[in-house]
Amino acid sequence: MVKTIRKAAVIGSGVMGSGIAALLANVGIQTLLLDVVPNELTEAEKKKGLSKDDDEVRNRLAKTSLEQSLKRKPAPFTSKKNVDFITIGNTEDHWNELKTCDWIVEVVVENLQVKKQVLQNIDKVRKKGSIVSSNTSGISVHDMSEECSQDFKEHFLGTHFFNPPRYLKLLEIIPTKETKPAIAQYMKDFGEEVLGKKVVFAKDTPNFIANRIGTYGLLVTVREMNKSQLNVGEVDSLTGPLIGRPKSATFRTLDVVGLDTFAHVAHNVFQHVDGEERELFTIPPFMEAMLEKGLYGSKAGKGFYKKE
Ligand code: NAD
Repeated sequence: MVKTIRKAAVIGSGVMGSGIAALLANVGIQTLLLDVVPNELTEAEKKKGLSKDDDEVRNRLAKTSLEQSLKRKPAPFTSKKNVDFITIGNTEDHWNELKTCDWIVEVVVENLQVKKQVLQNIDKVRKKGSIVSSNTSGISVHDMSEECSQDFKEHFLGTHFFNPPRYLKLLEIIPTKETKPAIAQYMKDFGEEVLGKKVVFAKDTPNFIANRIGTYGLLVTVREMNKSQLNVGEVDSLTGPLIGRPKSATFRTLDVVGLDTFAHVAHNVFQHVDGEERELFTIPPFMEAMLEKGLYGSKAGKGFYKKE
């Protein structure tokens, strides 16, 4: 087992991956931030005469994410200098560097098949005894690691951070039946003592604790909104500052989370419930229409609101 986490890797540099990398950098942990190699060149890259083999292109997703997080408000970094603790890269050229990491956090899209594949690839290179975790919002932690080695499974668990990771205190830790109890306890202590989180252990049930309640609450709000013919702004003024939630009104939260991610999370519960409950966890048609248009929220520049 690792004695202490000195070097970490975050796989997936989106909304949460970049935030988790900043959280680790803020406490002085050397962090490798990897994302996939983009399929296409951007117009700007073409104009610069770059090719798909150039590092600038191959590392673009992690680089752009980090640049965006330096501009993000509220700031993910306690000091801009902390960005120096982060090294960016991609999952093809820098995968072998995972060998040197004490903790690897998977933060890719909320899709079981993609997560399974990423974890199997991590299993091939990680050092024995290193900790691996998933930031899934609610997919079964057991299912995503079922094809991995025994050592992997014993050191694997869910570490579910909330958005934005620097500011939200809750950290759900989800051990499976195979996770060594000492690893779960180590990550609880690490989460509390090093990262300053409030840790709860959650069972490996669909959407764990907070998202099971949160998704339900949000979709009930939307159902009532439709019945009462309220608009987005009206719902946000009723569910935001007026009831003591200055920054977390319903649709503003959805823009921060990402509507695509929210839809995956709701679908995950949908698959595990029956009857009336199923109806509740169905994404309403107006949100489906937004998904089709790519109106995912802040990360897409537009969702319920335009990016501020
Ligand atoms: P996102 O869409 O912002 O980012 C996902 C990133 O994963 C993208 O940059 C994408 O290029 C990358 N990716 C996709 N396939 C990959 C692969 N095979 N290897 C490496 N990178 C890959 O999503 P997000 O909101 O950051 O969510 C990531 C995870 O965190 C999901 O499991 C999600 O459910 C969970 N989560 C999200 C939130 C939230 O508020 N958005 C909160 C808690 C947990």
